[in-house]
Amino acid sequence: MNSPEQLSGEDTVVQAVPKQLLIGGKWCAAETDSTYDVEDPSNRQRLCAVADATANDGLAALAAADDAQHSWAQHPPRARGEILRRAFELITQRHEDLALLMTLEMGKPLAESRAEITYAAEFFRWFSEEAVRIDGDYAVSPSGTGRFLVMRQPVGPAVLITPWNFPMAMGTRKIGPAIAAGCTMVVKPAQQTPLSMLALAAILEEAGLPDGVLNVVTTSSAGQVTEPMLRDGRARKLTFTGSTAVGRTLIEQSAEQVLKTSMELGGNAPFLVFDDADLDAAVDGAMLAKMRNVGEACTAANRFYVHADVAEEFSRRLAERMSALRIGRGVSDEIEVGPLIDARQLDKVDELVTDAVERGAKVVLGGERDDTRGHFYQPTVLTEVPTDARLRREEIFGPVAPIATFTDESSVVAEANDTEYGLVSYLYTRDLQRGLRISEALDTGMVGLNQGVVSNAAAPFGGVKQSGLGREGGKIGIEEFLETKYVAVGGL
Ligand code: NAD
Repeated sequence: MNSPEQLSGEDTVVQAVPKQLLIGGKWCAAETDSTYDVEDPSNRQRLCAVADATANDGLAALAAADDAQHSWAQHPPRARGEILRRAFELITQRHEDLALLMTLEMGKPLAESRAEITYAAEFFRWFSEEAVRIDGDYAVSPSGTGRFLVMRQPVGPAVLITPWNFPMAMGTRKIGPAIAAGCTMVVKPAQQTPLSMLALAAILEEAGLPDGVLNVVTTSSAGQVTEPMLRDGRARKLTFTGSTAVGRTLIEQSAEQVLKTSMELGGNAPFLVFDDADLDAAVDGAMLAKMRNVGEACTAANRFYVHADVAEEFSRRLAERMSALRIGRGVSDEIEVGPLIDARQLDKVDELVTDAVERGAKVVLGGERDDTRGHFYQPTVLTEVPTDARLRREEIFGPVAPIATFTDESSVVAEANDTEYGLVSYLYTRDLQRGLRISEALDTGMVGLNQGVVSNAAAPFGGVKQSGLGREGGKIGIEEFLETKYVAVGGL
């Protein structure tokens, strides 16, 4: 049970968030006045209701973004950067309240919510510094009679669709570079976690973002609201984080107006442990790569391949660490693992484990759901997982570590690459040459080399194959929101 102080803290942070749509600088109800409920996944209790936008609301938000685009693009880069910097400072000041809010709507424990708020704020700090570094080029034409000017300009109004697993960081990772580049936008947060985004929008307003630059539409019918925006012609850019299936549909919808698209999609990360690995570091890395966000991360380790000589010890140590984790409602500081986001996600994890066990996998730890109160699943370790088990091919998005063994380097690299996904791989070895050789051979956009977390605002995050298009963060992150214009200067 919560103490009365905790309850009032929870009520206060939820009450403080606007529950309406933000369109053209005005908080407003949906055109039908409809709302939908937001639930706490740890106990299925209703937290509040938020506006349930329709397709017309989405188009009104896009119209506001389009109206604001011209003047926003003229806003000096330094001024755009300073708004982001102020927002970074406001997020930092309100760290605790924002963390509690995130825990309530998403379920992750407070310590993880705090880490996400810090990570989310870093995108604003990073892109506040990038806004003033947009530059171009000048060249003498090869014949010497002309000049080439190359300029970078904002791509135009953008549609941003964000997921529930990192409700604030996946927002700032897109909003930061859009603001820095001079793009206006319509954001559609995930249905399950709108509150962190609404709180962020209020912070950006307070930081001085002009009306219409950021518009937010919350909705329980995502596709019906976003499809008309993508087909409208006023949007020029789509950036999406979520499942590969939805990403593919959105790419198809974006084809009509030939939108510039960025896609951060699913993953199926292999985690390789060689016989010369520092096993303490490998187990620490595995805990991060598997248990961060209760495995609900596109970067989560999905398949462990451990050298046969160290497999037993690694599996035993990982199971010991996972069995010691305290599971529960994340608002208490001692809780380390929260619930899954919803019943659908819980069913999916349960199905994948049942399938693996039916095909011969051994349960070393866990393997059970607990949905008496919320959507909980026990931390689970499976060994002897056969290659035909569905969880070797599908994204688990839950606290399940399937372990297989290997002896041969080239075969394990081939197995690691045998997936349509290509977001991230992890690899533990003390042999530098092997580390670099395998990093080059892995077909993923990112590699964690003796490192269990790759996310960093200053680094280019993204995948290859069906894990996505484009990169977010780092120097390259702003490129996704810029067009290149070349001016041919003649008569010289
Ligand atoms: P999803 O792809 O359905 O949802 C992500 C976002 O897309 C949300 O904002 C959602 O409202 C929106 N969306 C859903 N359908 C849409 C549509 N037709 N048009 C426009 N927007 C739409 O993901 P999910 O169903 O919440 O989760 C399912 C699986 O997706 C997970 O099990 C996981 O494998 C994967 N996933 C990956 C990430 C990631 O970070 N790459 C994030 C969330 C989910």
